[in-house]
Amino acid sequence: MSDFSNTKLAVLGAGPAGIATAYALSKAGKGQIALYERAKVAGGNSASFDVAGIRCDYGSHRFHPVAEPAVIDAVKSLLGDDLMLRPRHGRIRLGGRWIHFPLKLGDALTHLPPAFAASLIGDMALKKFRKEPAERTFSTVLYKGLGPTISEHFYFPYVRKLWGEEPDHLAVKLAERRVGSGSVGKILGKMLRMLPGLRGETTGKFYYPRQGFGQIGGAMLDAAVAQGTDLRLGTDITAIHRDGNRVTGMTVKDPDGTSRRIDTDLLLSTLPLTTLVRLLDPAAPEAVVNAARAIRFRGMVLIYLILETDQFTEYDAHYFPEISVPISRMSEPKNYSATTEPRGRTVLCAELPCDPDEKWWTMSDEELGRAYVGWLNDLGLPVKARVLGTETRRLSHAYPVYDLGYEQHFRTIDDWLLKLEGLLVFGRQGLFAHDNTHHAFAMSWAAADVVGPGGTVDHAAWTRHRRDFEHHTVED
Ligand SMILES: Cc1cc2nc3c(=O)[nH]c(=O)nc-3n(C[C@H](O)[C@H](O)[C@H](O)COP(=O)(O)OP(=O)(O)OC[C@H]3O[C@@H](n4cnc5c(N)ncnc54)[C@H](O)[C@@H]3O)c2cc1C
Repeated sequence: MSDFSNTKLAVLGAGPAGIATAYALSKAGKGQIALYERAKVAGGNSASFDVAGIRCDYGSHRFHPVAEPAVIDAVKSLLGDDLMLRPRHGRIRLGGRWIHFPLKLGDALTHLPPAFAASLIGDMALKKFRKEPAERTFSTVLYKGLGPTISEHFYFPYVRKLWGEEPDHLAVKLAERRVGSGSVGKILGKMLRMLPGLRGETTGKFYYPRQGFGQIGGAMLDAAVAQGTDLRLGTDITAIHRDGNRVTGMTVKDPDGTSRRIDTDLLLSTLPLTTLVRLLDPAAPEAVVNAARAIRFRGMVLIYLILETDQFTEYDAHYFPEISVPISRMSEPKNYSATTEPRGRTVLCAELPCDPDEKWWTMSDEELGRAYVGWLNDLGLPVKARVLGTETRRLSHAYPVYDLGYEQHFRTIDDWLLKLEGLLVFGRQGLFAHDNTHHAFAMSWAAADVVGPGGTVDHAAWTRHRRDFEHHTVED
């Protein structure tokens, strides 16, 4: 057995990727593992917390059954009976009508406006006559595959809202990562697989823990700590030190405000790529610094409206592609965990994509709550119950933005970081990937797998894993 006893491993960031890394490393008995997180609580964007006594997530979070079997098995064994398999029961506004989401054939046929449905069928028939785009961008590739109806009424307004960018300024990678069904035929195929008799055990369903989505990361973290991980919450990383091509350690600021330097054999970073480059001391080459300045993350304000009623609707989530309201999705947390408690109270969580320089970011809870009620009225979902209050949360790194040209910038940063010894970078924020939590787990276990005694990294194996990560497709 290899000797890891003196190997000092520091995992940066205690979101799902960092937690899963510490879990896998400690389970394998690989070295002295410390997990550093700036926030006072772990879980990152996948954490849960209470609002008015109701367990809430950062927007709609589901654990998708398409996850690798090993990931599902691990989560099942950590959560036991607390992991529920729930039917997806959402609605989307298309052509001014509510359609079940995920789409169901019978429902779509009866609820879509006839003209809209006819245009969709026309788009499918005309697909082979649409020209191959001269330039492959998000909009040209989607238009070619799906046609004008679904592009103009769903994807284009949705991405304008989500990324604050015109669809023709976004890279084709966004379509590859986020649009599972790139043709109307594939969308129909998906709908057919939802029919009774054709659907599998988990088709149209999702896993959800009784205590909120964050229970998954929480249970994994408890296991990692029980296996010997040293968890350091409220600890900010203020510098990452390198000597030439070798990362040697970091400086952290402890919760009591004192700074200390820590030597490491390997830093496993799940921090946002842009933050990592900024922390490097001495500074990264100018080209890398400039590339890091050229890429960006999209932020999000989550608005939690507390209502005096048992339930607002029976639906778990509502999707709003239209540009007339700035929120992209609304979820009702009680409907995710199938709880009826507490009685006489429910929470509606709205996802408002926005950056720190936009007006919504600095608005008070009350202002955002009033605006939210107005948007729901405009959408034909009037709030009749008494509003008991509003709470908000802000995520500065909700989504990496795939602007045209981002790939070149990412490659510049990634190529340089890959050459540094003593550092391994991954996770949704580290690899600038639109990944789900189950992808973050898979990445982390791969990372833990390539770590050798003394913090060495099996680079050939890591290259193979990185190729596999390219096939991750986001589930919504
Ligand atoms: C609105 C929304 C809905 C989503 N829905 C789903 C869903 O339904 N299903 C699903 O599987 N996934 C979903 N996701 C994606 C999911 O949240 C991510 O895949 C997951 O959280 C990624 O984990 P991570 O650890 O890579 O990153 P993060 O969760 O972002 O964690 C990174 C951690 O690093 C910490 N950190 C940052 N800087 C520092 C620093 N300087 N020092 C120390 N720590 C630092 C952060 O505080 C954070 O805890 C959704 C995401 C969003 C935004």
